Amino acid sequence: MRHHRQELTFTLPTRRGFVNITPQVARAVAESGIAEGMVLVNAMHITASVFINDDESGLHADYERWLEELAPHEPVGRYAHNRTGEDNGDAHLKRQIMGREVVVAITGGKLDLGPWEQVFYGEFDGRRPKRVLIKIMGD
Ligand code: ZN
Repeated sequence: MRHHRQELTFTLPTRRGFVNITPQVARAVAESGIAEGMVLVNAMHITASVFINDDESGLHADYERWLEELAPHEPVGRYAHNRTGEDNGDAHLKRQIMGREVVVAITGGKLDLGPWEQVFYGEFDGRRPKRVLIKIMGD
């Protein structure tokens, strides 16, 4: 079995945002030379997510509205977590519901995604560098 590890770093200029990272994940799979196996992609920070869904701007706007309804950023005083002096209590909750990681099968050296499936980085407390881990295992 072969292994390949790589990190991506994102610094979003805004507090929240979604980035389609499918090209970077596909590139890592190509660089690994692994034809049959699995790739794990996970956010390395507890206020960011990696998830799979459609690259459709209306859906992303729906996510933004839905997440703000569930866990609004303001007022920051509503979150016990923010008593630590932070203001990102909402971002931890948003990360929880959008997930930490995805696993995608690799078949014939390519990501074996379903129709319309794309891999996204979800940022909920941006404006600083944050990392995503890509770990590939297979033959
Ligand atoms: Zn925090």
